[in-house]
Amino acid sequence: MKIPEKIKIGYRDYSINLINGDVIDGNSVCYGNIKYDDGQINISTKYSKDQIECTFIHEVLHGIDELMETNLEEEQIRKMAKGLCYILKNNKELFM
Ligand SMILES: [Zn+2]
Repeated sequence: MKIPEKIKIGYRDYSINLINGDVIDGNSVCYGNIKYDDGQINISTKYSKDQIECTFIHEVLHGIDELMETNLEEEQIRKMAKGLCYILKNNKELFM
């Protein structure tokens, strides 16, 4: 998967920033985060390619959740992102 520089989620445009180091959200170090109001998705590149791709999916799901007002819990986003990563990884031909 190629991580794009930008992604449009509904009417919102997000810039994707690959961060060569830690992404800090509040007091915690995380794989990535999303800033809805600033239209920014930050992804730490200090992890494996698989992890970076899953972080991208995870943050996009947060963006969809925000857009669609589904109010999913972090745990639900985490699990859905993991499931979606498995699908994308194992069915590459579907998404070419
Ligand atoms: Zn999250």
